[in-house]
Amino acid sequence: MNSKNILVTKASMPSMEEYFDEIKRIWDTSWMTNMGELHNSLEKKLLEYLDVDNISLFTNGHLALELLLQAMNLKGEVITTPFTFVSTTHAIIRNGLTPVFCDINIDDYTIDVSKIESLITDKTCAILPVHVYGNICDVEQINRIAKKYDIKVIYDAAHAFGEQFDKVGIGNFGDASMFSFHATKVFNTIEGGAITFSNKEIGKELYTLKNFGIKSETIVDGIGCNAKMNEFQAAMGICNLRHVEEEIGKRKTLVERYRKWLSGIDGIKILKENEKVKYNYSYFPVVFDEKKFGYTRNDICEKLRKNNIFPRKYFYPLTSDLDCYKHTFSSSETPIAQYISKRILTLPLYGDLRLDDVDRICNIMLGND
Ligand SMILES: *Cc1c(COP(=O)(O)O)cnc(C)c1O
Repeated sequence: MNSKNILVTKASMPSMEEYFDEIKRIWDTSWMTNMGELHNSLEKKLLEYLDVDNISLFTNGHLALELLLQAMNLKGEVITTPFTFVSTTHAIIRNGLTPVFCDINIDDYTIDVSKIESLITDKTCAILPVHVYGNICDVEQINRIAKKYDIKVIYDAAHAFGEQFDKVGIGNFGDASMFSFHATKVFNTIEGGAITFSNKEIGKELYTLKNFGIKSETIVDGIGCNAKMNEFQAAMGICNLRHVEEEIGKRKTLVERYRKWLSGIDGIKILKENEKVKYNYSYFPVVFDEKKFGYTRNDICEKLRKNNIFPRKYFYPLTSDLDCYKHTFSSSETPIAQYISKRILTLPLYGDLRLDDVDRICNIMLGND
């Protein structure tokens, strides 16, 4: 990849020295994985940073979500949205569950809570909403609905690392939340993920399931998998956690610059901020209304690519439109998700991006080049 290219994101990394300093001790113990010292240390630090009572670390976010659904022993239908990364839908299906797709809000792209109740049947066991782009779902309404129908709530919080709603860590809402620490996320452990949860029994179940279901030397009582976070991943996490506030601060400055250029432009919609939310500035998506703006999302995407700038069409296609699902599901049942998916473009955003890169990107988009 040409180093002058600007991609949608760039992984945060500590200095080589800082990472070496952390991993050196692995050579003293030869303990490379299986809930080692660094793993346990990162777990403690994350409990504090995320302001949650319980956490379990995993080798990636996807397996964390899959094993969470297994640990909760769910059967039947799960209400979710198709406007997400494919992982959310795969995790449901790979557990033998049936996704029931609910539409999204036109303003923040999270699940439209006014449409959830009409999708509930006697088979519904859970709601699995996504804090998409770090936009926080209507956690209060979702909680109310879940109580009323006695169903579980699991958040895909892959985009919401470190966020707070009303000064409460976002991992405290619902029965459990999944965070992704993939290299492309605001905070990374190279690959990695976590589940935060309220019920300690779920924690015990997760602990065995991520290690093949092994309870003790001779007892294997769950059909588990191998999804443990190793010591090299944990070391990367320990280093990156020291810098994550700085990373988020830099992103905030860049987002403010994008906003300055793009707010009030006819035909370009940018996200509004909810004052109750402490954001992590993980993504900067814009939606183009071609009738007002004069150009389609695809026109602008092409134009940026010609200038070696590579935004992404997150989330297009909808998961319900992917080849593996399009014969089973119909995206016409979620018209707003369909509309947004065809018009959204996620612009480059990462701490190392320069303010004049943002200026250049906006000038190209607005035809000032
Ligand atoms: C990144 C992501 C995941 C999966 O996380 P991995 O750590 O990459 O396995 C799941 N859901 C969403 C919305 C994501 O963006």
